[in-house]
Amino acid sequence: MSPTFSSLNLVLLGPPGSGKGTQARLLAERYQLPHISTGDMLWDEVANGTGIGGEIQKNLDRGELVSDKVMSGLILQRIDREDCARGFILEGYPRKLGQAELLDGILAELGRRIEQVVLLDVPDDVIVARLKGRLIHPGSGRVYHVVEDPPKKPGADNLTGEALVERDDDREEVVRDRLRVYHRHARALMEYYRNRDQLVVVDGNQSIARVAQAMDESVGVRVGV
Ligand code: AMP
Repeated sequence: MSPTFSSLNLVLLGPPGSGKGTQARLLAERYQLPHISTGDMLWDEVANGTGIGGEIQKNLDRGELVSDKVMSGLILQRIDREDCARGFILEGYPRKLGQAELLDGILAELGRRIEQVVLLDVPDDVIVARLKGRLIHPGSGRVYHVVEDPPKKPGADNLTGEALVERDDDREEVVRDRLRVYHRHARALMEYYRNRDQLVVVDGNQSIARVAQAMDESVGVRVGV
């Protein structure tokens, strides 16, 4: 049964490859809330060939941030949808101070606020090793790792048997660029949420189950479930 609460708007922060997607999926299941990944939303825009897809792809290929204007539009549209009425698990946004301020503005307009921000803390060298072997199931977003969490049959999704792919931007040189972009903005972002007493830091360099337990405990305390 999903826990009872009036509203749970949750943000996950952390470097690329810190496990935000995996943990967001687990939390979304546990709390029966939509998992919003801005990375996935952007790749969808590209795949669907929308008007802004071409522009977005240039940023994605280089590991650069997509413009605030594009991001704000996408986020507002998504959060305003019916399935977010009880809350959401947002991951990949905000990535810098300006986006945090924009997000607060968007939520205020909708009469809402963020309940908690969880930062998954993982050292850079661990990230590079993790992303090198990461495999994705495009249909569901399920994530595997060739060494840490291999699929039962090599190269195939456990549930559907469909082919797994590597992400283009998981190549080491692009990962290093993504980490540079992350660190450029991370400190100010953390300060912002720490000053509002919204930030919890979780050690992301542990097993998926342990991280999930730590996240669940901190979120549970915050929303009283
Ligand atoms: P992710 O899957 O979260 O690592 O995101 C993949 C890529 O999408 C990033 O390298 C950025 O190019 C873009 N992206 C995702 N979220 C944002 C955001 N909040 N602001 C700008 N660009 C973003």
